Amino acid sequence: MEFFIYIIIFIIGLLIGSFATLAIYRIPIGENITHKRSFCPSCNHKLGFLDLIPVLSYVFLKGKCRYCSQKIGKRYIFIEICSGIIFLSFALSLNIDFYAIEASKFIYLIFGFLYIIALLLIAGMDKEKRFISKKVVLYGVIVNFAYILYLYIVGKSNMYRYAIYLFFMSFFLLMNTLLLQKKGRENYTIDILILCMLIITFSGTVAFELTVILTLFFILLRAIKYAIKKDKENGNILPIGYYLCISNIIILILQNFVILGGD
Ligand SMILES: [Zn+2]
Repeated sequence: MEFFIYIIIFIIGLLIGSFATLAIYRIPIGENITHKRSFCPSCNHKLGFLDLIPVLSYVFLKGKCRYCSQKIGKRYIFIEICSGIIFLSFALSLNIDFYAIEASKFIYLIFGFLYIIALLLIAGMDKEKRFISKKVVLYGVIVNFAYILYLYIVGKSNMYRYAIYLFFMSFFLLMNTLLLQKKGRENYTIDILILCMLIITFSGTVAFELTVILTLFFILLRAIKYAIKKDKENGNILPIGYYLCISNIIILILQNFVILGGD
């Protein structure tokens, strides 16, 4: 029975990955993510249900569009599979005993999923467009707010600090939206700092510290890669948000395995 639950969670992860590829493409250009049907980017043909099944459609269509035979980017299937693995790992890291009903772990699982969706979307858009979507950050703030409200209701003592973080984050997000409408590097830096607050609110200070260390490590690897390729990065802004989000997902999963995996 546990096996089937994890299979379902993996499939949910694939579906979320499939949604993420669409959202990452549409949100930065202001397109609607729910009301418009998916279409092939090369022939614009509307895609049917059978074209949109994660992984399976790709395999059965041999990586090509059914209507125009244009190759589908490997990136799509890569994001879907990564997303499936991330959600499965997160669920496994909680070490849930499905026979004893552990409500607190189950609720953490749901909030964790909702939070990871925000990180995946922010990571994808930052990597592709060097763009931190305020809509997605706002969605993350709402998830955090609901989570902290839940912690308050069940009476966790350490929630006050996070409530204060949440208040400041909402304040900065609002100020940034209202006052600093300029585009460019300055605004990007502020968005990154707000993203840091989002991460610290959900994952706590220790996980945030580890996230920063892992982020720096990834940035170092990237610098080494560019140094070997003798590639100049001039004018190419580092996607810090992407590295922060990916690092935070990895740290959250590892931290859960360490803390919850033992019992
Ligand atoms: Zn096509």
